[in-house]
Parts: sequence; structure tokens; C-alpha cells
Amino acid sequence: MAVSSPTDAPPSAATEANTTFDFSAAAGPLPAPVIERIAAACHDWRGCGSALCLPFSGEACRELMRDTRARMCRVLAIPETHDVLFLQGGASAQFSLVPLNLLGQAALAAYLVTGHWSRRAMEEAGRYCEVRAVDWNDASGAEVPWFDARRVAYLHVTSNETANGLQLRELPRTSIPLAIDMTSDVLTRRVDWSSVGVAYAAMQKAIGVPGLTVVVIRRDLLGRARPAVPRVFDYAVQSANDSRVNTPPVFALIVTNAVLEWIEAAGGLSAMSTAVERRSRCVYRVLESCASAYLPVAPAAFRSRTSICFTLRRVADVARFFEAAKAHGISGLTGHADAGGCRAANYVGTSDAAIHRLCGLLSDFANRG
Ligand SMILES: *Cc1c(COP(=O)(O)O)cnc(C)c1O
Repeated sequence: MAVSSPTDAPPSAATEANTTFDFSAAAGPLPAPVIERIAAACHDWRGCGSALCLPFSGEACRELMRDTRARMCRVLAIPETHDVLFLQGGASAQFSLVPLNLLGQAALAAYLVTGHWSRRAMEEAGRYCEVRAVDWNDASGAEVPWFDARRVAYLHVTSNETANGLQLRELPRTSIPLAIDMTSDVLTRRVDWSSVGVAYAAMQKAIGVPGLTVVVIRRDLLGRARPAVPRVFDYAVQSANDSRVNTPPVFALIVTNAVLEWIEAAGGLSAMSTAVERRSRCVYRVLESCASAYLPVAPAAFRSRTSICFTLRRVADVARFFEAAKAHGISGLTGHADAGGCRAANYVGTSDAAIHRLCGLLSDFANRG
């Protein structure tokens, strides 16, 4: 978890100047009031004892899971047609669990390939079924072919490619259910659930701490798991048991619950979406106005609001750029290992102050060299 303030005090005008802002994509910053809430919960959570040793078999934990589920449904407008599961194993486990739970009688699954994570998901699915890759075209997006729903179980898409900064503002229209990896843009965009078979997100990037993966599954797709699927990873079994087949990640649930509470108080999904859009626009505007120094990676229509990826025009400048970042009190701008370049994550908890500092660095570096 990247904490953007000293651990013993919330940020204030006095401390902010000394704060290093971290932009790494692997773990987003949590808002200061959320960190305070969680710190208090470590001593006592709603009169039930420490959040660190809340027994999952007790009523308090049931209440925590009910409340988190209800908040998630309210914020994301998840309809009754879909169930919400709280699982472990990260988004990478879902790369296997989506085909294992959804293939049923179908022998095929389709994958829209937009970058690093969608490719990883497709490769993993290839161990369980035949996969059909749908290619991405930088200019026009994707031409999604018509699929026979009896043969092709789902179309998998990665709504935001964290490594190469490509975001699908509109999800593809198709004849089969969508399976969406929303790990790096969940809770920053509206979802049309009518087209979604399953959506999943590991919570640690955009809004929480490692340990919790949220899966939203259309109820009529439950019950298709292969017999060999472990019970803890069978969507239908977890759905029937309120995600309590075994010990759930209680502390990660407490953190996600606190973030959802903060989101609701701050105006809900539309407020998050507007703020993320506004902050990303500030950064892209500087990148564009300093076009002789920087080049955004994704084509303009698909530029990610949460994973801002760019390269320096002069490769020789890279080391100096990271030095300048350090001098500005900025860390975590190194791009994904497979993609290279630079990247600034702009998640739900990213502050205006952090973005302001980043824009200052970008224009200073471009102008002074
Ligand atoms: C980070 C990431 C993953 C992998 O998440 P884990 O929880 O580490 O397995 C998968 N998909 C996307 C889009 C990611 O950004």
C-alpha cells in the first residue's frame, strides 16, 4: 500500500511539501481519512474488537460482508441479476477461474488482445480450452465478429491495460457475455451490466490492499464449473455460501469497506469518474503541450485515465528524468517491466496535490531540459 502522507499524521499544508508522492501502478494511495479509519479499526471495528482478529464465523464478519456487498452494489449500480463474490488469489487466479467456471459445454472462448494483461489472460485460458484472439487496431479499435453463443462461452476484455495505458472507454458490443478484467479501472467508470457475464477486479491497485478479489457474476451463468474446480473457486458454491466457504480475507474487506464508505460520502461513482477524468486531462494536456519532450503511448481515443503511460522523445533523457522526479518528491514513475517507458497511476485515492506536483515536474523538465 502506498501511503502518500507520514504514517502518524494526516497530510496538511505544512507536511505536504515534504511528502513524496508515489505513482506506481501496483498499489494505489488510500485517502488519508480512510487510513485513519483503518488505523482506528485495528483497535476496534464497530464495537466488535480489533479488525486484525475478527473471527470470520461471527456475526460481525457477516455484517462486514453484507455491508461491503451492499455498498459495492449501490456504488456500481449492480442489478439483482448479478451476484457479488469475495474471493482470493488475485486477478491472475481469475485468468484460470473464468474459463473453468464459464465454459460449460462450450469449447471456445474469445479474447480481445489490447496489451500485456489481456494476453496473459488469454494464454492462461489456453490451458483449458481453445482460444480465439480478437485483434486490436490502433486506429479503429476492434471489429468484434459475431460469435455463436453455443460454441463460444464469452468474450474476455481488459477494460484498462495497466502496463500499456490503453483503456476501452466503450466496451465492445457482442452476441456473447463479456468477461471483464477491471482491476485497474474499477470504481472509476460506469458499467452497463446487461452485457456483462462476469467482471472481476483485484482490489489492491485501484482501491484497497492485497488479498481481496471481487467477482461480479450473472446468476444464470452459475453452476457451469468443471467438476475438478476447487470448491473455494467454484462461483456457484461461493455464491450459495455468501463467499464464506472458507475464511475470507477479513482485513482486506475492512479496507475495501472503508474506501467504499469514503466514495459514497464523496459523491459516489460519478464523482470518482469525474475526478479521475479531470486529473488525467491535466497530465495529458502537459504531455501534449511539451510534445518535443514526451509521447503518450496509447492513441488519443484510448488513452487511459488511470494508467498514464508515456515515453521520453530522447531515450538519453530517461535517467535524468527520474532524477528530476526524485528532486520534485515524486516516485514510482518507472513503466511496467514489459512495456518500458514511464507511467503515472491515477487511481481513486490519487490527490489533486499529487497531480499538481507531477504536472510541475513534466513542464519543468521539458522547459529546462
Ligand atoms: C495487476 C493486474 C493483474 C494481476 O493482478 P494480481 O492480483 O497481481 O494477480 C491483472 N489484470 C490487470 C489489468 C492488472 O492491472
